[in-house]
Amino acid sequence: MRKIAVLYDAGQAVLSTFDLDEVLQRILAIARDYFHLQNVAILLLDKGTQQLCVRSQIGWDDGQDEIRLGLGEGLTGVAALKKQPVYAPDVRKDPRYLCSAKSTRSELAVPLMVRDEVVGVLDCQSDRLNHFSHETVDLLTLFSTQASMALQNARLYSLERQRAAQLQAINAIAQQTTAVLDLEELMRKVCCLIQEAFQVSHVSLFLRDENDLVLRAHHGTLTPSISEGGRFLAGADPWSRILATSTSVTERDLRSAPQAAKFFKESASRMSIPLISFGQVLGVLALDSSKVDAFVEADLQSLESVTDICATAIQNAHYVERVKQLAYLDGLTGIFNRRFFELRIMEEIERARRYGTGMAVIMADIDQFKPLNDEFGHLLGDEVLRQVSSLFHQQLRKIDVVCRYGGEEFGILLTQTSAQYAVSVAEKLRKMVESWQFPGVPRRVTISAGAAAFPEHGTTRDELVRAADTGLYTAKQAGRNRICLAPLARGTGVGS
Ligand code: GH3
Ligand code: MG
Ligand code: MG
Repeated sequence: MRKIAVLYDAGQAVLSTFDLDEVLQRILAIARDYFHLQNVAILLLDKGTQQLCVRSQIGWDDGQDEIRLGLGEGLTGVAALKKQPVYAPDVRKDPRYLCSAKSTRSELAVPLMVRDEVVGVLDCQSDRLNHFSHETVDLLTLFSTQASMALQNARLYSLERQRAAQLQAINAIAQQTTAVLDLEELMRKVCCLIQEAFQVSHVSLFLRDENDLVLRAHHGTLTPSISEGGRFLAGADPWSRILATSTSVTERDLRSAPQAAKFFKESASRMSIPLISFGQVLGVLALDSSKVDAFVEADLQSLESVTDICATAIQNAHYVERVKQLAYLDGLTGIFNRRFFELRIMEEIERARRYGTGMAVIMADIDQFKPLNDEFGHLLGDEVLRQVSSLFHQQLRKIDVVCRYGGEEFGILLTQTSAQYAVSVAEKLRKMVESWQFPGVPRRVTISAGAAAFPEHGTTRDELVRAADTGLYTAKQAGRNRICLAPLARGTGVGS
């Protein structure tokens, strides 16, 4: 009768709520009351560290939470290791006993099993010697299956809840990302949304750039060991595997992996999913956790759905970027066009104004281009334009902007540059063109240019362009193949 009553009560407790801590407390209270115990505890096995930690207890003062027992340590550790109940009728005579409560005289540890796997231990302690009869041990073993069930139910329930939350997140990510056409913003958003939805320590997004994977965005709580823009060789593991097979890779334990293979100092496990659009791997989405073995198969399914959505959104943003770029590129030479020049000069003036760093404009024009066209034909003229553009492009810094302003005229924006430096840059370009042997053109090609700087030659777009143009006109007047600085603007008070 007693047997049925205790199992019935435990069963009711398991079914009463999905809150794991509440269920465990109820089960422990039933065990204490039915079996007249002083201290009862449920310890759970941490899969990663293979240690038992107290999850719920009755009878001890606080401070039990920090206790960690390895497999084989103490009676509970032995029960977990052997997958069998372990009984010490007199704890003082049992070498396996570890004292956690002074009054304890006998102790029974029963493993909590799910299928054939140990998930924890039910630890029962009494202040009486030889407290547990055969029948009690059997009954507590049966009873422990209720605790295992409670654990299993609560886990399934929280997994289900997590799945539901993830589904919602997938939906939200789909809605929020398709509207974002700016690639940088999109990548940041993807990392934030996934980190929140999947509750991982850190999310990083890598895009493929020829033979490298470049870190383009990341979000989370870990300490990065590479910065945005950092590169990894796509041929190295695990990237090569992901890219070659287009499949996800889960690394369960990264603790002993070389630091160079980690993105974050605290990474203990990682799941990497390829971003695939139209059968092409665009990059990799990596989820890092500070816990070992933090990812389960079910996460992967949800994550793969999310990455599919992200890959499409990234591809769209790529297209938009490309179209935007095309609108700012000159079809003949491949350098920027006048529209881009107009846009950037405003930005550069604003930057120079705000930070006082200076900027300069060069207007350069090919000398006697009409006769060259007339003499050698338009096609060769086109080729000269292409080559001059390419020479300019090679000679300037990455941060400078070379544009085809129109016809055979070029507009060049030099950031953080003085008038003097602008003149020397223009001079370098002039010499370069003068000495260049253009195939099919059996004579020298030269350029003239005017240079103007902010603020002494002008403080607005029109003033600066006009000033540089005046310099160019002066250079032409003076016989071509030369550089002239613009006249100082009136009222600037600089040098006049
Ligand atoms: P200057 O030294 O005074 O600049 O003389 P110029 O002959 O270079 O100047 P002008 O403005 O009289 O002639 C510019 C020529 O550039 C006229 C036009 O045929 C040529 N041109 C403009 N755009 C293109 C182009 O896309 N391709 C070719 N081949 N020629 C072009
Ligand atoms: Mg010309
Ligand atoms: Mg011209």
